[in-house]
Amino acid sequence: MSISSTSPTPIAILSALLQEQQGLMELLHQPHKVTHAGRDFWLGELHGRSVVLALSKIGKVAAATTATALIERFGVRRMVFTGVAGGLGAGVNVGDVVVASEFVQHDLDASPLFPRYEVPLYGRARFEGDAALTALLFNAASAALGDGGASAAFPVARVHRGLIASGDRFVSGAGESRSLHATLTGAGHQVLAVEMEGAAVAQVCLDYGVPFAAVRTISDRADDSAHVDFPRFIEQVASRYAHAIVEKLLVSLEP
Ligand code: SAH
Repeated sequence: MSISSTSPTPIAILSALLQEQQGLMELLHQPHKVTHAGRDFWLGELHGRSVVLALSKIGKVAAATTATALIERFGVRRMVFTGVAGGLGAGVNVGDVVVASEFVQHDLDASPLFPRYEVPLYGRARFEGDAALTALLFNAASAALGDGGASAAFPVARVHRGLIASGDRFVSGAGESRSLHATLTGAGHQVLAVEMEGAAVAQVCLDYGVPFAAVRTISDRADDSAHVDFPRFIEQVASRYAHAIVEKLLVSLEP
């Protein structure tokens, strides 16, 4: 179903960090702030589309609350997440972009009652992104990077598509990231990147039947130098990517 530009049901653009939201805020027409559930939601128009910009805050619970509020309070019927993540898969390097095909919660373990990683009572460990929206987001990311949206510092940045793992830990040790990768892969989950929100938003969107897609710029390799230059990377690289990708996506949604 295509939603016309005059549709009253807005698209949510969720960002994890303020710096990522900044560029989008500057383009927002007729901005209108609503404070709800301790969060600021910015309503307005981007490229003729009705949107709500929101910060997820950090971690699975905060992200789930934000996603729920977007759906219940603002009537959102599509959700897109832009953020940063640590690269875990081979060849997923700083400056690359990962578009999520699926999500898993790497810190969920109700064994032996349920298999490790399985979300109890959902009968599965992995939640998929919406196929159509994810395909558009992948194309938007490829176009944005191809266009010189890519930073001069990362001229060979690649766009990947695959599994993203979420959990309530900032993974910042080489040993920890190796073991996370090995354990997930050993359980059949070929993970590309780790972050702290995506799988929670995917679960909420599944519950409500809201199409969801997510894109993450790789800010670190989840190793001992994961915290180094994080703020500078967000400002100089990730926020520009987010901005360029969302613009391309919104234009491609036009009927
Ligand atoms: N330093 C930041 C906090 C970032 S927390 C600040 O000052 O606010 C990390 C955020 O980036 C989370 O939203 C998470 O989703 C993502 N992230 C990036 N690299 C990560 C990693 N190695 N492990 C887990 N999350 C990561």
